[in-house]
Amino acid sequence: MKAVNLLELPVEERKESIYAKGKQKPNLKCDTDSIAGVVSQRACVYCGARVVLNPVTDAVHLVHGPIGCASYTWDIRGALSSGSDLYRFSFSTDLKEQDVIFGGEKKLALAIDELVLKYNPKLVFVYSTCIVGVIGDDLEMVCRVAARKHGIDVIPVQSSGFAGNKSAGYRAACDALLRLIEPKNKKEVKKSKSLNYLGDFNLAGEVWIIKSYLREMDIDMNVAFTGDSSCAALKTAAKASLNIVQCTGSMFYLAGKMEQIYGIPYMNISFLGLEDTAESLRKIAKFFGDPETMCKAEELIEREINANGDIVRGYREKLRGKKAAVYVGGGFKAISLIKQFREIGIDVVMVGTQTGRQEEYDTINDLVDEGTVILDDANPAELEQFIVKKGAHLLVGGVKERPLAYKLGVAFIDHNHDRKHPLSGFVGAVNFAEEVYSTVCSPVWRFTQVPADAPDWLDGNAGKREIIIA
Ligand code: SF4
Repeated sequence: MKAVNLLELPVEERKESIYAKGKQKPNLKCDTDSIAGVVSQRACVYCGARVVLNPVTDAVHLVHGPIGCASYTWDIRGALSSGSDLYRFSFSTDLKEQDVIFGGEKKLALAIDELVLKYNPKLVFVYSTCIVGVIGDDLEMVCRVAARKHGIDVIPVQSSGFAGNKSAGYRAACDALLRLIEPKNKKEVKKSKSLNYLGDFNLAGEVWIIKSYLREMDIDMNVAFTGDSSCAALKTAAKASLNIVQCTGSMFYLAGKMEQIYGIPYMNISFLGLEDTAESLRKIAKFFGDPETMCKAEELIEREINANGDIVRGYREKLRGKKAAVYVGGGFKAISLIKQFREIGIDVVMVGTQTGRQEEYDTINDLVDEGTVILDDANPAELEQFIVKKGAHLLVGGVKERPLAYKLGVAFIDHNHDRKHPLSGFVGAVNFAEEVYSTVCSPVWRFTQVPADAPDWLDGNAGKREIIIA
């Protein structure tokens, strides 16, 4: 297969962040700041912090900034709750020109007072935004005074949008969560046969599925970070014997810190796909080590594979020859998706992430076929170019990528935001296969047209498209 001609990239400086797998493995430029002006998908620091913290159900989420920043709300990412629904509100201090000139600290203090009076929360997260970083409001001081005054946790989240990218927001959120965990001294912690589940936000109830598997294996899920979590549960995180990490992009930092401070070991797991789910349950059972837990894990895996394996394999024949493009947040999720597509007979021809690390890109490189385009921190123009050039029939991404796929006449699966059914665990593997089949094989794609003024390389719809490699 000929190499993709990278000289055609819309932005020359992006060359080091994109390559097509060949005989030699180049180091991909990743985990750095985005190039100015390329309309990166990494979004802002505040957005990263909000993704991680918003599922804390009984917290007030107060955005200190102009009203526009507060538009990133629960509705964009519908994490579910088994208790409080306070987290579904989005509060803002609604900073105006006068506040920018004279400072917004007083307004923030009054907003906290009002919210505490009205909702009586145990926890308030106060997010800083771009303008707060520019005018220099002292969030620490305002939050400290409010915490003392009301006798609750008021935690500043240092998330001024311009101060980095989404990864910096994940770290800001993890730092805020660390402030909650008690006791601060590891010697006072009493351990239990339980684990914390890091990097699952309970979209469509996915935390509950994994919790039920663990319960069957006699292992308690102490708390999930942060899907369906509460202030009280998060405080107890130090008593777990193990941290398992699903979304490494957002929670790798917290797992490392908890190992350092509390001596809690962590392992990366994945509950995406039959193979990864089974392997992860075995890894967890092995960690706890008692024969009964291991036996229960094997029974569970056997039962679920018997019930779901044939259904998933049944889609292989129907999907043979189809190709997928993947653009997701974390590197570990991309790795899981490549394996999951293999389970249903689909080749991944383009794979990229927003926050992948070098070692994750190395694994991706080892997993994919020659010629697959691997890219970090892509922009819509690049995604469009490679989806078409590689003849993908399907794009897996987040809410921002959906319109792009549909405009190109390509099927789409939302793996992040507004989905209503779970994609985790054995049941999730079946849902995923069904969704891939129904979107890729939908008759609607026969009726999509390429616009008359489309560039030369956009030469056909997804079903008939040829791979054009320069
Ligand atoms: S924090 Fe800054 S970049 Fe983020 S939404 Fe607000 S203004 Fe935009």
